Amino acid sequence: MIFGEDFGGIRAMEAYIIGVGNELLRGAIVNTNAVFIAQDLIRLGIKVKGMLNVGDSIDDIVTSLRFATSVADFIVITGGLGPTHDDLTREAVSLFTGLPLVFSEEALENIEYYFSIRNRPLGPGSPKEAFIPKGGEVLRNSVGVAPGFWVKHNGKDIVVLPGVPREAKDIWENIIKKRLESLYLHNVPYFTLRVFGLGESMVESKILDIIKEDRSNVDILIGEPLEIKLFIKGGNARELFERIKERLGDYVFTDSDETLVEVVVKKLKEKNLTLATAESCTGGLLAERITSIPGSSTIFKGGFVPYSHWAKKTLGIPSYIFEAGDVSIEMAENLARIAKEKLSADIGVGITGNAGPTAGDTTKPIGYVCIGIVKDGDVIYRDFQLEGDRARVRFLAIQWALDMLRRSI
Ligand code: ATP
Ligand code: MG
Repeated sequence: MIFGEDFGGIRAMEAYIIGVGNELLRGAIVNTNAVFIAQDLIRLGIKVKGMLNVGDSIDDIVTSLRFATSVADFIVITGGLGPTHDDLTREAVSLFTGLPLVFSEEALENIEYYFSIRNRPLGPGSPKEAFIPKGGEVLRNSVGVAPGFWVKHNGKDIVVLPGVPREAKDIWENIIKKRLESLYLHNVPYFTLRVFGLGESMVESKILDIIKEDRSNVDILIGEPLEIKLFIKGGNARELFERIKERLGDYVFTDSDETLVEVVVKKLKEKNLTLATAESCTGGLLAERITSIPGSSTIFKGGFVPYSHWAKKTLGIPSYIFEAGDVSIEMAENLARIAKEKLSADIGVGITGNAGPTAGDTTKPIGYVCIGIVKDGDVIYRDFQLEGDRARVRFLAIQWALDMLRRSI
């Protein structure tokens, strides 16, 4: 493997991603393969120099390879590996590298295996997929027919993967990513931080003096709504990381590769605390996010969705609370208290709001959301004026509830 530009004393690799397929150019599909590949490469500290989409044309694939190899060392191509006449990537790679296509026993085995476990005869086009450029390595596809391959050419690495995202991902995760990790994570000092509740420019302004010293080694990226990811790499990464972490204080919710909801579930487990929810405007989305984490049953007692006025009353919200409308801080707090008591949990969370496009509680604006958390004798509550359409307001409400939970545990 070849190493490009200097990077903290270690020479780092640069990558290029190419998508092949007329559908990409027609706008019929977007290159989602490039998205997950780029995200993993960046996480590994490998710079992505560019991305290209080209049609099902040998000439265009060859031209893209010529360009990509002139600016990067590690090229990933997806698409055009199948059995049909419009699948031309292997021919193009062969033409570009000058490596003739040769029959590979290992590739055929991969293809035959796919058909044998499905009790189906070999398709008429399949043998074509058993040919790869001479000297290339077969990359086993465990979810589809066509294996990928990896060839070296003039010190550059060219990795070719099927277009179907599930298949590209299978080979990428099981083979390529693992190999890059073993090469890279050992070599490149690399740290990550995740921040909640500060916009990108706020994060930048808080640490501007630090990143000005070493701009190229600190990347500020947007994650889930309200989440910012920071990647810190290079020879002085540890020192930069420590300083940035201290500066951003409790806005930082993790320094490893985990999401906010994962952090909350982990913290609840560590502290041996259980949780119950009562969600009005979010309709159970918070419960859904928490229960999507494997093993959350030990911390999540359950949740209510008292969406209507009647359901809130029936659940036991006292009548005087309704005097301030269905959306109020008092309502959120009472929802939290009732969830906690009825389900014998250590912590209760209540959410109520106007998600829009019309207001349920006409005395409050659209996007107005109240969140309450009750824990032992403590009560925390906040109200928010959130922006966006209905789906976004609901999602932001969940994010804020998770962050309030994280801070309260
Ligand atoms: P097959 O064996 O199915 O023909 P292939 O490797 O030849 O696989 P393509 O024919 O290029 O792949 O694409 C198969 C399907 O995968 C496309 O119809 C498209 O739905 C999807 N696909 C291809 N490339 C991408 C991409 N870059 N991002 C997202 N989806 C893609
Ligand atoms: Mg195809």
